[in-house]
Amino acid sequence: MKKKAIIIGSGVGGLSAGIRLSKLGFEVTVFESNPFIGGKINSKMIGSYRFDMGPSVFTEPHLIEELVALCGEKSDFFKYRRLEESCRYFFHDGQQVIVKSGVSEVAQTFQEAFGEDLVKTSRFLNRMKKNYAAVSPIFIQVSLHRFWHWFNRSIWKALIRIPKYGLFSSMNQNNEAKFKNPKTIQILNRLATYNGSSPYKTPGMLNIISHLEFNEGPAMPHGGMVAITKTLHQLAQSLGITFRTNEPIISINHSNGKVSGVKSTLASYESDLIVSNMDVHYTYEKLLNGFSSPTKILNQEKSSSAIVFYWGVKKQFDSLGVHNILFAENYESEFNALFESKEMYSDPTIYIHITSKVEEKDAPIGCENWFVMVNAPINVGQNWDEIVTKTRACIIQKISNHLNTSIEDLIEVEEVSDPRKIESTYFGKQGSVYGNASNSAFAAFYRHPNFSKKIKGLYFSGVTVHPGGGIPLALNSAKIVERCVKEDFDLKN
Ligand SMILES: Cc1cc2nc3c(=O)[nH]c(=O)nc-3n(C[C@H](O)[C@H](O)[C@H](O)COP(=O)(O)OP(=O)(O)OC[C@H]3O[C@@H](n4cnc5c(N)ncnc54)[C@H](O)[C@@H]3O)c2cc1C
Repeated sequence: MKKKAIIIGSGVGGLSAGIRLSKLGFEVTVFESNPFIGGKINSKMIGSYRFDMGPSVFTEPHLIEELVALCGEKSDFFKYRRLEESCRYFFHDGQQVIVKSGVSEVAQTFQEAFGEDLVKTSRFLNRMKKNYAAVSPIFIQVSLHRFWHWFNRSIWKALIRIPKYGLFSSMNQNNEAKFKNPKTIQILNRLATYNGSSPYKTPGMLNIISHLEFNEGPAMPHGGMVAITKTLHQLAQSLGITFRTNEPIISINHSNGKVSGVKSTLASYESDLIVSNMDVHYTYEKLLNGFSSPTKILNQEKSSSAIVFYWGVKKQFDSLGVHNILFAENYESEFNALFESKEMYSDPTIYIHITSKVEEKDAPIGCENWFVMVNAPINVGQNWDEIVTKTRACIIQKISNHLNTSIEDLIEVEEVSDPRKIESTYFGKQGSVYGNASNSAFAAFYRHPNFSKKIKGLYFSGVTVHPGGGIPLALNSAKIVERCVKEDFDLKN
């Protein structure tokens, strides 16, 4: 008889863990509290406009292709395009810069727009490629909590490069030391937000994200971001995985240091193994109530949250691309507000994502679907209704100024999400988007392991545990779970 595995949550980390465990021979059931599959990667029609409700930046598509191959499907089962441009930047003084993907393209743009040295930029980006390749096999692809995982041949390559990582200075300090123009530095610093951190606190090591953003460039799945979780759902169904939506798990049952099953709002279920894709904080607080939790890990500073406006706009703007950033004038003050005073900054950096630029059906002819996001502090009881109203007025003004067009009357349909909604819809602690922030040199070591050290058979996948925030890392967390399960259940496969 097959051993049973239960996955709590159908986010990208839960779906990929389910697929991997099914391929190991487990009978897998996925429980999802929402009526839809996919967690934060879901999509919604608002009027005649389609919106991806959560993530918009997608890198490392090979991690999805790997799952497609694992399930024996053809490579075109998941289709995506590489975007020629990584992002369009709008600065407070009116300068607009389009950054294309590729080392020489970026170096050329930084030279023409900001006066940076072509060779220095290329050297920096190539170094980030090497750093990424060195760090990935020991920090991202394996468990940091089972020493034999990272103690492999790659570790020597990674150790030799330690002086090049910028471990003990911040991302901003690293970038200031290498580039002269504050605008170049602002563009590079922005990448700290890819896991909800501050560039003034996160270590320079995180500059490796530059490799994914600039050298490789972002990808866009055909059908929008939701195609990522739709693909994984289809793969899971083809393997015979059972899905139980609208059925929240309310406790994890365990005895004598071993899991025995779960209790949902409808029934109890036995299981040999459980993977929680729920925010790890809430897994302890709500599902393991009374069990001693790793407080030092859980109490680390949380990543930022977000306010998102989903706007159907009845006009097309040639000056906007798929990804657009309208920067704050004083970036450091914005991060101080987000992480220190936990306030919404008065001049927030605005991100506008428009899938209809490449997915024409996402908006009516002549119109665009704008996903307009500003970083927000986590929910500590602020007056969000008031904040959202003020923020809306402020960003409408700023976008209108940059585009030289009053946009208020162009907004045909609208929905809004704020940290309270992120918390209530996906159970993200205080609305934080990525669990713990990476706001210290040792943040990687303060993420929860992918397994429980105290309850056998309990595993964790998703952005709130090792290796951290973002779709590729959530996919890697499921790979690490697979390896731990193989070891713990003595499986050769
Ligand atoms: C506005 C926004 C923008 C983002 N932008 C990006 C981006 O551009 N790029 C990027 O890589 N990442 C981005 N992220 C983060 C992104 O969402 C994650 O990288 C990824 O989707 C998270 O996947 P996950 O597997 O950790 O879990 P989630 O997507 O959080 O899924 C967890 C699932 O568990 C379910 N669940 C929770 N508790 C229970 C329970 N008790 N019982 C049953 N089910 C339960 C939830 O309903 C949810 O479906 C963004 C997030 C937000 C909110």
